[in-house]
Amino acid sequence: MHLQTERDPDGGWYDRFVRIVDDEGRIIEDFGKHPTLNELREAERRYGERINLWQQGLVCYECGNQINDRFSARLDGHIVCWECAMGKAEEQQGGLQINADPTKSVLSESKLHKKSLCDYVINVATGCRHGCKFCYVPSTPAIDNREEMLAEQADVNNPQEDWGTYLLYRDDLPERVHDGLQQTDFSDWKKTRRGRGVVMLSSGTDCYQDRRAAQITRGCVQELITHGVPVRILTRSPNVVRDIDLFQRAGEKIAVGCSIPSFDTSLVKAMEPNAPPPQARWEALDKLFQAGVPRFVSFSPTYPTMDRDEIREALSWFAAIDPDVVFHEPMNPRGANFKMCLDAAREIGYEDMAEELQNIQKRDQWVEYAIEHIDLVLDVAAQFDNIEIHTWPDRELLKETSGTRHHRLKKMREKVSPEQFPFEAAK
Ligand code: SF4
Repeated sequence: MHLQTERDPDGGWYDRFVRIVDDEGRIIEDFGKHPTLNELREAERRYGERINLWQQGLVCYECGNQINDRFSARLDGHIVCWECAMGKAEEQQGGLQINADPTKSVLSESKLHKKSLCDYVINVATGCRHGCKFCYVPSTPAIDNREEMLAEQADVNNPQEDWGTYLLYRDDLPERVHDGLQQTDFSDWKKTRRGRGVVMLSSGTDCYQDRRAAQITRGCVQELITHGVPVRILTRSPNVVRDIDLFQRAGEKIAVGCSIPSFDTSLVKAMEPNAPPPQARWEALDKLFQAGVPRFVSFSPTYPTMDRDEIREALSWFAAIDPDVVFHEPMNPRGANFKMCLDAAREIGYEDMAEELQNIQKRDQWVEYAIEHIDLVLDVAAQFDNIEIHTWPDRELLKETSGTRHHRLKKMREKVSPEQFPFEAAK
């Protein structure tokens, strides 16, 4: 299946009819002229096949140049070449500044193998519409070092404080991943003991936060799976179920997870203002369970006010979807945005929570809470026969402990998550 373009004899040279044809040249779908990126990506999904958009005769909606290399889309979905994409002003959508992301990197090596999550990450966008208050991403170099670009592309004044108000998409990532994998010598692929060569989408944004991000994600995952590379998906968005067909085809090469730190809807709404409610995420996991897709839960961060009963309730919800693993981490008050969590708790009248969050900013109280929560979650999980916890104690906790406790925490840090992740890429 591929694209076929044909000039309209009655139009300008850039007026082209665009069709999808099968390998025998039969027309499967006729889009007329200038299909939107959304239409083309949705067609990929409908037919279950990737359509590479480079060098197919598509033209830029603004200047008419051929799309032979990098491209993006306008908010109305029309495809634009890279020159036009870089020249256009940001657009507004529901309070978000939207634009194209000029980031060159496709696949980045990641230190998340230390948490047994992956060896590489692909971020489908810069920025994230969910705007979680505890999010560490705006404190990382991926945002912190890109002030100038964000000011230029999305009129961002303060990338940290404005987190959640800008989103720059990487529309052509599937094509770039395809190109990169074609040229990859897999004997050089990084495969650490805990990362196992896995690629994670995404660590710096939510890869299913909306349809456009989901379309980019699908294309990248399809390319990776086709090349035998295992994939981990982590999201807060029930949109993830739109790709169950792809996940089923991937078998054990994929693990799909949702972050559910709490089932307290008001708290989650305050801390993750634009993310879907926790129950909707659980329902998505349930659909993955029913479809036999390997799945996990990220139960992090657990809030300091959570007691044994609340943790047991959360774990019983998780047990119902029979996850391969539940990742757990306590809160870490180090991020520059942590004060926003305090303010959010106060805004919804959670004074106890605000007080506890204030307390854990003191190192000794944070150590006490973090160790207590790690132990509590493990202890409660032991009551379920289908919950395996993978917890990753912060390095600072190890510095604060000694003897048996220190060794126990150290062992936890060295554990490999129980997922399979067969790596079948050509050597
Ligand atoms: S969904 Fe993830 S990346 Fe997005 S704001 Fe929340 S924590 Fe950050």
